[in-house]
Amino acid sequence: MSEQAGNPATTPVRESAGTEPGGETGGGTGGEERRRPALSPSRAADFKQCPLLYRFRAVDRLPEAPSPAALRGTLVHAVLERLFDLPAAERVQARAKGLVGAVWAEIAAEAPEIVAAVLADLRRAGEDPDLPGPEDPLPGWLASAESLLDTYFALEDPRSVEPQSRELLVETELSSGVPLRGYLDRLDVDGEGGLRIVDYKTGAAPREAAEARALFQMKFYALALLELRGAVPEQLRLVYLGAGGEELTYRPEAGELRRFQRILEAIWAAIREADRTGDFRPRRGPGCGWCAHRGLCPAWDGSPPPYPGWPELRTAHEGATAKPRPGGAVAGAAGVGSRAEAGAAGPAHGDAHGHGASSAA
Ligand code: SF4
Repeated sequence: MSEQAGNPATTPVRESAGTEPGGETGGGTGGEERRRPALSPSRAADFKQCPLLYRFRAVDRLPEAPSPAALRGTLVHAVLERLFDLPAAERVQARAKGLVGAVWAEIAAEAPEIVAAVLADLRRAGEDPDLPGPEDPLPGWLASAESLLDTYFALEDPRSVEPQSRELLVETELSSGVPLRGYLDRLDVDGEGGLRIVDYKTGAAPREAAEARALFQMKFYALALLELRGAVPEQLRLVYLGAGGEELTYRPEAGELRRFQRILEAIWAAIREADRTGDFRPRRGPGCGWCAHRGLCPAWDGSPPPYPGWPELRTAHEGATAKPRPGGAVAGAAGVGSRAEAGAAGPAHGDAHGHGASSAA
């Protein structure tokens, strides 16, 4: 059973599964409001890595094209979500692999320009080590997605799992006023009400720094659920599908989540101070190698656009966007991109969480 450790001084806001109208910075749909920025694991990581990168993504909301690995992550996440739409007995390996083509067809139909760009990337670079050759990259690329699903089935039998939620939006505000927003891949609840957060990673199990980043993400979700449900999740489970597969399970405690809360509050305070001054400093580092915005970065002899100011609620015609829902129909070209862009300024782990670039913007 989960520890009951809610903070009565805070204000639960909501949870909801699937697409949230106007919820993100991805593809646009008409008539919704655009949300104010909130803190998500990806945006917090962006700010820690480079404040200017945060600005480009969360404030300027500049588009970023997904990498092939990131788009594959989107595809695999979508297939895994679809899999749990099926009755338990039908969640078998062949069925999952059969979904790859159908989900890919939807992505290709709804975001043809992004798909074309990714395939062109593959042809140009032959960068994906899973591919047999750059001539016709698509079959091999899809096969590499199927291979990740094989690994998933080696780690878990989905017939034995009945998730309470998939692609669950968790959105709340801490007592200090810090807005939190993120998407959980999966939430399981055991017979006694214990919560388990599950996150799929389509890359290999990480080294120390990347593991810390993954754990940061999971603690973020755990804290959000603690706020919303008053219970500490019993398990934070990372399922790595790359390089043969591996699982990492962490059991958080209320005290550490409250200490983690103070870290988030400090990050948010630094973000708002940067907004007040308009001073989002570039911070050069290894991540610059994957940054989509180097051309605009003064650390690389570029010039950023004038600071546009903190995004407030706007209507759709002013730029509102909708969250892509990787398990459902892909919500449009920008939706595919936004799920993928979470990894755009880092190595191509292929963990293109839609909870990422879009979720805190
Ligand atoms: S190129 Fe590097 S320093 Fe510049 S915005 Fe991107 S991550 Fe930051």
